[in-house]
Amino acid sequence: MFSEEIKKYSWNEVHDAIYAKTRHDAEATLSKIKYTTDDWMTLLSPAAEAYLEELAARSRNMTIQRFGKTIQLFAPIYLSNECQNICTYCGFSFGNKIPRKTLTEVEIKTEFEFLRKEHFEHVLLVTGEDAVHANPVYINHSIALARNYFSDVAIEVQPLGEAEYSMFKDSGCDAVLVYQETYNPENYKIYHLKGKKLNYNYRLDTPDRIGKAGINKIGLGVLLGLSDWRTDAFFLALHLNYLRKTYWKTRYSISFPRLRPAEGLTKVEHPVSDKEFVQLMCALRIIDNEVEMSLSTREPEYMRNHLINMGVTSMSAGSKTNPGGYATSSETLKQFEISDSRTPEQILELIEEQGYEPVWKNWDKALTAH
Ligand code: SF4
Repeated sequence: MFSEEIKKYSWNEVHDAIYAKTRHDAEATLSKIKYTTDDWMTLLSPAAEAYLEELAARSRNMTIQRFGKTIQLFAPIYLSNECQNICTYCGFSFGNKIPRKTLTEVEIKTEFEFLRKEHFEHVLLVTGEDAVHANPVYINHSIALARNYFSDVAIEVQPLGEAEYSMFKDSGCDAVLVYQETYNPENYKIYHLKGKKLNYNYRLDTPDRIGKAGINKIGLGVLLGLSDWRTDAFFLALHLNYLRKTYWKTRYSISFPRLRPAEGLTKVEHPVSDKEFVQLMCALRIIDNEVEMSLSTREPEYMRNHLINMGVTSMSAGSKTNPGGYATSSETLKQFEISDSRTPEQILELIEEQGYEPVWKNWDKALTAH
């Protein structure tokens, strides 16, 4: 389990090692074609910022070699904003006195029909962490319903046990996303104040349980803004590397959402600049050239325009972050404010303008179908 593996590393020692790297270290790392964990620290260091153009070129080439010039499109569907946890950065947090909503089967189908008409083949079903409304039976039923409409169904729901993940797999779930938010155990305690999410290790070992259940793809991520991003990215890479070796048949994706304004969120403790965001993305691509990288509508238009050719492999488009947001109800509470509100058609045009091919299906399935 990764909770055992991570004990070999100390957050503070990794942090200090990253910040001690020099331009000489950066040049030495960039002259290599294989990288050690020490090189990972260099790629993520402030010293490597001076080589951003080279990092971006390398990231772009590695991505094209592995994935071609394709960008897969997906849409999140929020099924429920019920949540029993208190996370200080999230609009769905239990303490926020907001209207709660869990979609009925009829409402779910209405959302699905809307997105099918927009040509989406790949959806991400999202719920808060709630044992009553968005429980495993509800999630499983939603997956089964979604398979009647879409070729790829991913979920981002509460961490569960191996038995539940096996059940989801049998119902047609292709991918499970579970973000650690931050790998810093001390900061984790500051942001997570109530509910099951308090258990750092249970969340940390969730990808292991997903891997054991044989789910096709696991999505990892950190929420940028909670801790020092360079150190968090190192631990994210470590987690990915461990999972690749342990569950080698599984595919992996990563995502690195930046904190966005949300109900109850007043200040971002560790902001990440645009330049730093680019370094993060390119460094992670260089560390792992096989990982899929997803970019959500949390990022503003100008960033999404520029990041398409730097390592991204999938993008959401026209997203709504409230239950029923597409076709049922526009009044329910959003998890966070999106930043890029362009329509799927506009995103499609943008991708094509940049010489990339938009792919509606899961890109792996699209390629093997040829
Ligand atoms: S981040 Fe997830 S667990 Fe935390 S309050 Fe939001 S929906 Fe609930």
